[in-house]
Amino acid sequence: MEVVLASGNAHKIKEIKEILSPLGIVITTLSENGYPDLDIEETGSTFSENSKIKAEAVHDLLGKAALADDSGLCVDALDGAPGVFSARYAGVDKDDDRNNKKLLAELSKKEGASRKAHYECVLTLITDEGSEVVVSGKCHGTIGYSEVGDNGFGYDPLFIPDGFDKTFAELEPSQKNAISHRRRALEALKHELENLKP
Ligand code: IMP
Repeated sequence: MEVVLASGNAHKIKEIKEILSPLGIVITTLSENGYPDLDIEETGSTFSENSKIKAEAVHDLLGKAALADDSGLCVDALDGAPGVFSARYAGVDKDDDRNNKKLLAELSKKEGASRKAHYECVLTLITDEGSEVVVSGKCHGTIGYSEVGDNGFGYDPLFIPDGFDKTFAELEPSQKNAISHRRRALEALKHELENLKP
C-alpha cells in the first residue's frame, strides 16, 4: 500500500516512516510526488480539522491515498496553548528555537505540577477509494526549566515524558518513538487498517 504523507516536515516524515515501514506501508513524500514546496494553509481551529484539511488537499491533488499528521504541544497552565499554533507560537513559522524560548518565558513563574503538558497528534488517512480514517494519540509529561538534548525536534528539548527524567531530545529516537503521541496515533491507525481489510 502506498500512502503519500501530506507533510514537508523531515522529522515527522522520518518518525512516521520508522513506525509504518515495518507494516509494509510504503510512505512517499510530497517531494517524491513532484510537489516539494506545497504549502497547505491550516485554517482549522483543532488538530482534527487541520489534519483533515491537509489529507484531503493531497488526496484531491494526487488521487492517491494520503496521510496527514497535525500535532502540537498543549500546556495545562496556558489553557492548552500553544496547541494548534505550536509551529508558529513565537510568530515565525517553524522557528523551534524561538518557540522554546517563548514557552520558557510564559512558564517562568510556574513550578512543579503547574508545568504539566501533553503532546497530541491527530492523523487523517484518506484511502485510494476516498474512505477516511481519523485517529489520535497523546503523550503526557512536564515542561523542563531549560532546553536539554539534541535529538528530536520542536519542543522536544523541553518536554520530559511521564516516567522519565530526561527530555525527548535526550532520549534515543527509538525510545521517543516507542511512547510518543505520534506512535500512539499510528498504533491506532494500524488497528483501524486491520479492521478495514475485507
Ligand atoms: P504542524 O506541522 O502544524 O502539525 O505543527 C507541528 C508543530 O507541533 C511542530 O512544528 C512542533 O512545534 C510541534 N510538535 C509536534 N509534534 C512534535 C514532536 O514530536 N516533538 C516536538 N514538537 C512537536
